[in-house]
Amino acid sequence: MKAITVEPKIPGSALLEDVPEPDARYGSVLVEAVAVGVCGTDVEIAEGKYGWAPPGKTRLVLGHESLGRVLDPGPSSGLKKGDLVVGIVRRPDPVPCPNCAVGEWDMCRNGQYTERGIKQIDGFMSERWRIEPEYAIKVDPALGILGVLLEPMTVVTKAWEHILAVGQRAFWEPKTVLVTGAGPIGLLGALVGRQLGLEVHVLARTETGPKPELVRSLGATYHSCSVADVGFEPDVVMECTGVGQIIAESISVIGASGVVCLTGVGHGGKMPDIPTANVASGVVLKNNVLFGSVNANKRHWYKAGEALARADRSWLARLITRRERPENYARALERRAEDIKVVIQFSDV
Ligand SMILES: [Zn+2]
Repeated sequence: MKAITVEPKIPGSALLEDVPEPDARYGSVLVEAVAVGVCGTDVEIAEGKYGWAPPGKTRLVLGHESLGRVLDPGPSSGLKKGDLVVGIVRRPDPVPCPNCAVGEWDMCRNGQYTERGIKQIDGFMSERWRIEPEYAIKVDPALGILGVLLEPMTVVTKAWEHILAVGQRAFWEPKTVLVTGAGPIGLLGALVGRQLGLEVHVLARTETGPKPELVRSLGATYHSCSVADVGFEPDVVMECTGVGQIIAESISVIGASGVVCLTGVGHGGKMPDIPTANVASGVVLKNNVLFGSVNANKRHWYKAGEALARADRSWLARLITRRERPENYARALERRAEDIKVVIQFSDV
């Protein structure tokens, strides 16, 4: 079968190649790939900046934002042939640490977790893949190809769960959220903010393309100014850019007792021009919490499926701005200004 593979840490090593059928040790459920979303992590792996091949191998099958159709449910999965499923990405570490031991592998303490398509387990960019029944999440068949948005939705679902948990340390009635960045995570974060009944503001650089209208059609407000100029003090900031200056300004504008959730993973950039001690003083004097959030556990996968099923399908469909065939993997791994979510489509839904 065909698979898109990379040699991790070797820039430009991505290939569409023939590989053996998926190994039975990957799980008793056999799945035919429908589509796989491409995200910044995939691009970084293809650029040689990240990623680990499975033990004893040099190449890794790429892809962690899956959607597939069950070909063989195996003996004990509760799934049926033809069901649409998405594969959970992370596996608990083998020690396991206390968090992995209780199923909160998203909070792994020792970093020895593994991840499909990223860290030591083959991913989902192959014509067929296997999965353990307990890591296969059945998606609402009415979602069709939109099920490929489930994995990014889990990241947002966990971030929101933690924002609300942190806020509950005191009496807290959040009304406003500022989402910085209008990629898939920012836009899905804004969607959940609206589902929670909050006044949602989204800030991004572009004034053209589909992003401003996508934000407005959620009933949210779009800003293309700097964070410092948004003109209000949000109760929540969901930071999705990873850009130093935007992070620093987000901490400055957050309202008293507000929560700043960092979800972006950035690198380098110039030093922000706000001294650290001044930023910290603001955090102290306003009782702010600043925290990071990554990945998701099974509870978030379940809740994300419900949130996706509740969302307006035509709005979700507008997030998928490009579909590429597997043979055009190089094009799929290019970042283009007008892209929101690019998917590689292996078969029709
Ligand atoms: Zn762990």
